[in-house]
Amino acid sequence: MVKQTIQIFARVKPPVRKHQQGIYSIDEDEKLIPSLEIILPRDLADGFVNNKRESYKFKFQRIFDQDANQETIFENIAKPVAGSVLEGYNGTIFAYGQTGSGKTFTITGGAERYSDRGIIPRTLTYIFEQLQKDSSKMYTMHISYLEIYNECGYDLLDPRHEASSLEDLPKVTILEDPDQNIHLKNLTLHQATTEEEALNLLFLGDTNRMIAETPMNQASTRSHCIFTIHLSSKEPGSATVRHAKLHLVDLAGSERVAKTGVGGHLLTEAKYINLSLHYLEQVIIALSEKHRSHIPYRNSMMTSVLRDSLGGNCMTTMIATLSLEKRNLDESISTCRFAQRVALIKNEAVLNEEIDPRLMIKRLQKEIQELKDELAMVTGEQRTEALTEAELLQLEKLVTSFLEDQDPESRLEVGADMRKVHHCFHHLKKLLNDKKIFGNNTVSNTVSSESKDQDCQEPLKEEEYRKLRDILKQRDNEINILVNMLKKEKKKAQEALHLAGMDRREFRHSQSPPFPLGSPEGQRMRLSSAPSQAQDFSILGNRSSLLHKKTGMREEMSLGRQEAFEIFKRDHADSVTIDDNKQILKQRFSEAKALGESINEARSKIGHLKEEITQRHIQQVALGISGNMAVPLMPDQQEEKLRSQLEEEKRRYKTMFTRLKALKVEIEHLQLLMDKAKVKLQKEFEVWWAEEATNLQVNSPAVNSLDHTKPFLQTSDSQHEQSQLFSNKSSGGWEVQGQGTGRFDVCDVNARKILPSPCPSPHSQKQSSTSTPLEDSIPKRPMSSIPLTGDSQTDSDILAFIKARQSILQKQCLGSN
Ligand code: ADP
Ligand code: MG
Repeated sequence: MVKQTIQIFARVKPPVRKHQQGIYSIDEDEKLIPSLEIILPRDLADGFVNNKRESYKFKFQRIFDQDANQETIFENIAKPVAGSVLEGYNGTIFAYGQTGSGKTFTITGGAERYSDRGIIPRTLTYIFEQLQKDSSKMYTMHISYLEIYNECGYDLLDPRHEASSLEDLPKVTILEDPDQNIHLKNLTLHQATTEEEALNLLFLGDTNRMIAETPMNQASTRSHCIFTIHLSSKEPGSATVRHAKLHLVDLAGSERVAKTGVGGHLLTEAKYINLSLHYLEQVIIALSEKHRSHIPYRNSMMTSVLRDSLGGNCMTTMIATLSLEKRNLDESISTCRFAQRVALIKNEAVLNEEIDPRLMIKRLQKEIQELKDELAMVTGEQRTEALTEAELLQLEKLVTSFLEDQDPESRLEVGADMRKVHHCFHHLKKLLNDKKIFGNNTVSNTVSSESKDQDCQEPLKEEEYRKLRDILKQRDNEINILVNMLKKEKKKAQEALHLAGMDRREFRHSQSPPFPLGSPEGQRMRLSSAPSQAQDFSILGNRSSLLHKKTGMREEMSLGRQEAFEIFKRDHADSVTIDDNKQILKQRFSEAKALGESINEARSKIGHLKEEITQRHIQQVALGISGNMAVPLMPDQQEEKLRSQLEEEKRRYKTMFTRLKALKVEIEHLQLLMDKAKVKLQKEFEVWWAEEATNLQVNSPAVNSLDHTKPFLQTSDSQHEQSQLFSNKSSGGWEVQGQGTGRFDVCDVNARKILPSPCPSPHSQKQSSTSTPLEDSIPKRPMSSIPLTGDSQTDSDILAFIKARQSILQKQCLGSN
């Protein structure tokens, strides 16, 4: 059992604007516990004249300042927890802080760069690395991903996500068994056998979460996400199984609404936006107070799920994320205060071992049989009749599988029947003798110098000599046949791979999203057609299409929509990220391709060197036989040289292979990031498109009068444009009115170019939700409520509307400059 208080760490986020001096300082004396001092500027400290500078000091296990990178965070915070999970203890890491302070960045990672990947992907990499190294146990990993929003649990990995929105899915509910253990109903567990599978699950869950989020329900700041790695391990032959869970938790934003009207007082009593965070605090307070018998875990779903992580069987770590800018100081102070309380909580982690009942039954059955047999032997119950043919065959099979079983602890179980025991020994002897004869016939590649010595002690007799020569000839023939077979197989495999490559290309093509995926995709295919890397890279193609399929992205769009999408994409901030990542991907692909080629070269070189060494052996043996000469005792210089070349080539191969593996993970990650960015773009486009459709309706002449346009359209040019816009056919003329233009910030043209905010900001949402009743009819869940393939006539109307307005705005901007 490990008794430990919850570990608390602080991480300071780099400021958006230039650093404001003197707000905080970190004291990291090696001998002392590190502390963070937050200095409240005079003007903030009190509403009244106050000459005192207020300062607050908080102690943490460690404080990571702005420049700490993701690797440092992982190494210092997550790695030790992952280590204990591998040993069989439960672990939890949770990030707590106000919205925008870097919780998601720390737990999951940034959306742009590979180096920004956060604790979850790094932990997965680390765990899989460790599992590969440890062959003494058998491990199984399962993943679950739970989102808690408004006290309701949602399974982010529910396979039905494809068809439904979050609300339509069955809610995850809590069940408690008589031992007060918590079980989650409707939360699916997905087995992950490789790092790629686990990462795909993470990205799938994140994408599902993104799609479910609408501007009205900013779930990401108000919901908690719990990514759980369930790890079981078992030693071969043992009936004991260890289960450990690692929760990686991204909590909702901790911001509070300060009580109003108390003379601008900060740090006074405050109210949580988020009720379940309030209950979390209550649990923490109860736990940190001595002699409290009742801990209110049951008050909220989150505290119930994390019950073991708080004051229970778990090694828990908290990361307080801080955005130490002047306007966030009060929130940062309350985050630190929360952390100080958390640090008082003591947990007791125990190894979660249990006996697997099935394995136990098997073991007991075996024991009973053994005892029965022993009893039969002792009581002298002898059997004399001969064994049947079938029984003999069965025994021989048992012997064969016993010999093939690699497990050193495996046993040949025939029971206490001496007839059977004798037959097994008999059969073993026969096998051994057969092998001896066969073994003597073989010209081994690695004839040891000792045996060579012996062979050459006495001159070979004429008959033996002839025999050996025949065998040699026979071997040569066999080798030739084998080489031909190998060549044929290789050719077949290459053809199959080529076909598979073509299939995948076709598959991708039919699944491709409306984005031009760019050349990396093409390179991917070329790369995967190289036989040696085909297996490694094949998963990439499947993954991407899986994500698209899961997220409901489709390619059929009307032409009008496609064009509008291009306009939207061009002006969207994320397209820069996508383009950048595409460039990096391209580089990585060509690097991987070059590496793949070098690896293939090294491999064939290794093959040649091995072949040469073998040839030398055969030659030497043949020489020894035909010339009746002793094989030289001195090591063969030429062979030494070949061997050292071989070693060198193997080293080179290994280094390159390791690099290729790392590259593969990076490429995979980058592609997932890009896919996610694309899904986001698509989703935001749908929102925007829906708004444009509504604008078009709202701006029809039946609803509005021309007067609305006056504050917006001032120049004669734009009036001209406007009349063009109005004279546009189909709806008999459109109008640009207050509501439609309200979201156009003309002065902000450089920032957003001429499009409305691609994803309505809370600000714009507020405006639109109070503008017209019609606006309320904008679908709240664009992805599911708007058909992706609209009426192409309407689509082209909307496109014309967008274009016309764009051109007006452009002119206006030029005029105002
Ligand atoms: P939260 O999840 O707490 O609301 P995010 O993790 O979404 O906050 O962070 C808000 C923004 O700040 C994101 O754009 C993120 O990339 C950025 N960010 C957060 N922490 C860091 C950091 N340590 N270094 C660089 N950027 C960061
Ligand atoms: Mg977040």
